[in-house]
Amino acid sequence: MELSFHSRKIEARIIGPDGQQLTRSIEIRKDPITGRSCRITFSRSLEKEAATDALPPRPPGADQSADCPFCSHRLEQATPRAVAGLLAKGRQRYGDSVLFPNLFPYGAYSAVSLLGDRHYVEIGTARPATYRDCFINCAEYLRKVLARDKEAVYVAITQNHLPAAGGSLVHPHLQVHADRPASNFHRFFQKRSSRFFAATGRGIFSAYLEKEMNDGRRYIGRTGQWHWLAAYAPEGFFEIWAICPGRFSMCELRAEEWHDLASGVILAQRFFRSLNRNAYNLGLLAVERPESRLELRVSLKVRANYAPWVRSDFTGYELMLGDMATFVAPEQTASRARPFWSK
Ligand SMILES: [Zn+2]
Repeated sequence: MELSFHSRKIEARIIGPDGQQLTRSIEIRKDPITGRSCRITFSRSLEKEAATDALPPRPPGADQSADCPFCSHRLEQATPRAVAGLLAKGRQRYGDSVLFPNLFPYGAYSAVSLLGDRHYVEIGTARPATYRDCFINCAEYLRKVLARDKEAVYVAITQNHLPAAGGSLVHPHLQVHADRPASNFHRFFQKRSSRFFAATGRGIFSAYLEKEMNDGRRYIGRTGQWHWLAAYAPEGFFEIWAICPGRFSMCELRAEEWHDLASGVILAQRFFRSLNRNAYNLGLLAVERPESRLELRVSLKVRANYAPWVRSDFTGYELMLGDMATFVAPEQTASRARPFWSK
């Protein structure tokens, strides 16, 4: 059950507007873990992508802390509390982070964890400790949920950085999820990682990482136990992964491991900022069962900038054919990101 890094190049021949024959290269890659294909349509980087000449200005909501339910002056009145027995005082604090149930939940235990009381924080400027404390607050919440409901094992931490990435409020926060029903990705990765382990005795992300470290072209760097690399077959712009080999549970992750993850998230943010991008999604998921073989892997994907009338990064190609089309080779993403990890 060898992981296969499959790619093939195809060409499109066309006559350009000036009458000259043009050959355009397209690369099709398959993700070694999911088997999903994606395309790198190199010529589309020649198209002018709107609002990427400079980092976009502050979003309108950046100066509207008076109405923000997540700012401390409104938090107590404007956010919900957990039912009796789950969180001691209805909300949970760790460092500067405050966690409370999501007012508009996606599942039985959807919650929001704030990254401190600063209403607007520009991408790449947060302190790692702020992210660390927010992650730890999420993990502590998950431990309490699982103590109460042992079947709510499908857990995740996600981030929608700015409305362009789906965020409803600019006040920095993470979402934390725990549920009995599995999401599509939980279902797929649980099965794939279990079968891979049964056949090889190894974690699938460990095996993937080993191959990528030997190859080196997409490896970016390391923060503690977390290894950072550009995704081989990206399903989002400038997709970066962090893998923590041999670690399966968010509930069991130590404070320093959360700190190392937080440090890398800030480095990724600085890299995205250097590309004049201000919106991204982050995701980390786990199956909180002792027999889970799904190792911890974080994915970060850049989204089209938060700016008026910017074209969405998802076109009919992605939504109707299911293949993401990006413009930049992952090897180039890695070489541009690497300096941020070596500073
Ligand atoms: Zn706020």
